[in-house]
Amino acid sequence: MANVTIRDVFKSYGAVQVLHGLNVEIADGEFVALVGPSGCGKSTLLRMIAGLEPISGGTISIGPRVVNNLPPAERDIAMVFQTYALYPHKSVAENMGFALKVAGTDKAEIKRRVTQAAEILSLTEYLDRKPRHLSGGQRQRVAMGRAIVRDPQVFLFDEPLSNLDAKLRIQMRTEIKELHQRLKTTTVFVTHDQIEAMTLADRIVVMQGGVIEQIGSPLELYDNPANEFVATFIGAPSMNLLEGRAAGGVISLGGTDVALPPGIIASGDVKLGIRPEHLILSDKGLPMEVKVVEPTGSETMVFLNFHGQDVTAVFRERHAFEAGQTVHLSPDPAHIHIFDAAGLRLRRDAQKEPEHA
Ligand code: ADP
Ligand code: MG
Repeated sequence: MANVTIRDVFKSYGAVQVLHGLNVEIADGEFVALVGPSGCGKSTLLRMIAGLEPISGGTISIGPRVVNNLPPAERDIAMVFQTYALYPHKSVAENMGFALKVAGTDKAEIKRRVTQAAEILSLTEYLDRKPRHLSGGQRQRVAMGRAIVRDPQVFLFDEPLSNLDAKLRIQMRTEIKELHQRLKTTTVFVTHDQIEAMTLADRIVVMQGGVIEQIGSPLELYDNPANEFVATFIGAPSMNLLEGRAAGGVISLGGTDVALPPGIIASGDVKLGIRPEHLILSDKGLPMEVKVVEPTGSETMVFLNFHGQDVTAVFRERHAFEAGQTVHLSPDPAHIHIFDAAGLRLRRDAQKEPEHA
């Protein structure tokens, strides 16, 4: 196992720069997710760690070694892609052992490692099958088995669950987490799905447009987002942002005053951020018109209109709301976020600064 250090890393394709100086310290044994919208540079960064893409600037280290100029085979990493790229004419066992065979590992050792990986992944009874006779989830496991048998210092995953249906994706997510708890191999996992990142990772790197917006544990990002982008990207349904004007310790939202959280100093145009589960029914609340009510049984999602702005609220308890009705909702004062005109979240002085890139 090894730590991975990404320092001032840049990437350009010709004249186009796509990564703009990234810094990430990944600890030995840590599970880190790279998350962000499509095209933000996640795969590019992962492929640079793997050695599949040259580095335009900065350094990448795996353990004590700078790997910038090392070919992939010498980096002691194993990568799992979205398309599993299994050899169709080889059996599961042959697919899993192939890299070891190419590396000249002796037969008994290959068999030992393949048998062990198959046990970990519940593939023992499928070792003689061809990939076409496996389900999507089983193929995914074979792809992981191929990585496990190499016992690498680092696992690199690029959206490995994207081709699976929703139910299987959730099941494989749990399996990957169990696998990491068992093997404790340093893992970098790329996904565009914030829920996948939240549920799997020790820490999440949120990227947008080739820069890192914030690095933190799932709940740090959820509770203390650095800016509007992270606040709305992490969490589903998204955090509500209400436009208002701050003055004299209050923020005026469409004519209703809401107190600024203690210790927050703001004036002028700001946005009040409030998560859907932190809107509370209250006579003194903001008047909002119910547009759509979606009960799911465990909770009810309500879509509302507040002075032309879309608002989402989620209730665990049941209410008989109807479309067209006006309800009064107050942001829970303990969970109010204030964003300045530049989209940065305002903090109390005492509050710990988040880890920035
Ligand atoms: P993500 O994995 O986050 O969806 P990528 O890392 O694949 O994003 O791509 C990041 C940016 O780099 C995108 O704008 C993409 O168009 C560009 N890009 C990726 N590969 C190449 C390439 N081989 N040549 C030119 N541009 C590329
Ligand atoms: Mg990608």
